[in-house]
Amino acid sequence: MSSSSSSAAASSSSTLPRLPIFEAIASHDPASPAVVHSLSRRTFTYGNLLAHVSRARDRLQQAHGGADLNGQRVAFLVENGYDYVVTLLAAVAARAIAVPLSPAFPASELQYILNQSEASLLVSSAKFASKATQVLATDLTSSPIHLELPKHMGDDGPPGPVHLDDANPGGAGMMLYTSGTTNRPKGVLLPQSVLTAQSQSLIQAWDYTPADRLLHVLPLHHIHGTVNGLLTPLLAGSTVEFMFPFNADAVWGRLAAPFLPAAAAAAAADGPPADKITFFTVVPTVYSRLLSSHKSLSPEMQEAARKAVSPENMRLAISGSAALPTPIKRAWKDLSHGNVLLERYGMTEVGMALSCGLSFADRVDASVGWPLPSVQARLVDVDSGEVIQEGEELGPDGRERSGEIQLRGPTIFKEYWRNPEATAKEFVEGEDGNGRWFKTGDVAVRRPVPEAGQNSAQPWAHGPMYFIQGRKSADIIKTGGEKVSALEVERELLSLPQIAEAAVVAVPSGKWGQKVGAVLVLDPEHVKGKWTPMDMRRALRDRLANYKIPQVMKIVDDIPRNAMGKINKKQLVKAVFADEFSEDEV
Ligand code: AMP
Repeated sequence: MSSSSSSAAASSSSTLPRLPIFEAIASHDPASPAVVHSLSRRTFTYGNLLAHVSRARDRLQQAHGGADLNGQRVAFLVENGYDYVVTLLAAVAARAIAVPLSPAFPASELQYILNQSEASLLVSSAKFASKATQVLATDLTSSPIHLELPKHMGDDGPPGPVHLDDANPGGAGMMLYTSGTTNRPKGVLLPQSVLTAQSQSLIQAWDYTPADRLLHVLPLHHIHGTVNGLLTPLLAGSTVEFMFPFNADAVWGRLAAPFLPAAAAAAAADGPPADKITFFTVVPTVYSRLLSSHKSLSPEMQEAARKAVSPENMRLAISGSAALPTPIKRAWKDLSHGNVLLERYGMTEVGMALSCGLSFADRVDASVGWPLPSVQARLVDVDSGEVIQEGEELGPDGRERSGEIQLRGPTIFKEYWRNPEATAKEFVEGEDGNGRWFKTGDVAVRRPVPEAGQNSAQPWAHGPMYFIQGRKSADIIKTGGEKVSALEVERELLSLPQIAEAAVVAVPSGKWGQKVGAVLVLDPEHVKGKWTPMDMRRALRDRLANYKIPQVMKIVDDIPRNAMGKINKKQLVKAVFADEFSEDEV
């Protein structure tokens, strides 16, 4: 079934539910830009946003035959920009569950999500209408109604006043699908109360303000792009400038624009000068690509770019979603006249959980910092199952105890959609009667760092710091009775000049249980001839205990990563080390 855009409700009620996100938007300066399209410089203000959301909400409801959308799933395929923002908020305004889809997904993946979520609507922009039609033509077990949105919702009639009424959130929320490295993707249900708690926690920790302008280069079907990069800045009244898909040269061009000597003259002829970008939150691979592309810019552009990312202009540059290699952090600091990347840790199910602090001293190499405001975190010893209390971080043998990170509080997701078994499996009841803990599956150690955690303006950033060792299922390698953190070995490998990229994996072994395997991309600038396993061992000898040094190594041209720069290690080990599985090293 299809509902055409021209049948939009003429008599919009222009009331929206009194939810915190709408209250916040209504309270921001109406003239202040909420969204900017970077290339065209089109600007959409806070003052018009709610009217557009209200109209789009009416369209959704009408497409649904006027029936209540409360708690229904509204899947949508819309490009990064103002129309995406309006569609997401319109679903929330209808008290529905917004399900953002990636236009890059193949039809089979989209079909799975539509079926699993039992979507009532599939909303598409004009650009993705044919993709939507293609998915709807597949063998769906659900029967979503297709709504094609009009182009340019920012031109959707003169904006009128919008009133906020009933504060009942109903079933409003958002659902994101996990990357599904082992099983099929799971729908992670994030009610609006959870989204609000996540955003409020980040506003407190990272000081988002209306003066901030974020350059948004991430996909919009992940927690990083949606919560950190969009909902939180909207709640804070910041400006989100979209520039997607990521292109390193284009990003440098944009960042540098306000600092080029020609900027003033060009702006006089061409419109207002581009405002400087103050806030950037991306994944480590983006920093890595920016660092290599910077070298090929013209000298004038290089200098303007360095100025753009220096601490006095870019007030916060954040890295997360995967471990930040120390060489990237150092190289960024050098390039940016001293800007230290802030690393944080999070996941789809919990939003952001741990973060380093705003003062540079609180951005400790290899650490993801402390539990964010309102997040409760604990470490549960992977061997004994005991909670590792503060002060008990060292075991009787003097070694650091590693534990699974468990989390609770208002920022944690509600459930895996229509999957009570998976939900039950990932939570454990708290002994104190104060609620259940989510088992992240990530392992960490906690370590006091005396010079960090002294900033009295950030009281949450205090105490021993967390250092991620990796996912229990893929990164904790059990070899000959010892446990090895793949992330720790990767860090050391990446600090060698010969290595451009590294993934450390568990290779099944009859003799050792598992062997430590390294998949490497070499840096041609530093390796002229061959680089052998012997060279690797020699280079690591003084950096790592013997049992941590990879026993097997493969050189590849490229390590496949997803849109967020993550490596699927289960696939990688099969693809690269299949022939090693039953052999043993001597
Ligand atoms: P996703 O739910 O796709 O965002 O993936 C979350 C996973 O990414 C976590 O469970 C961690 O394994 C990993 N991750 C996120 N941030 C970091 C970080 N700063 N360092 C290491 N791993 C991270």
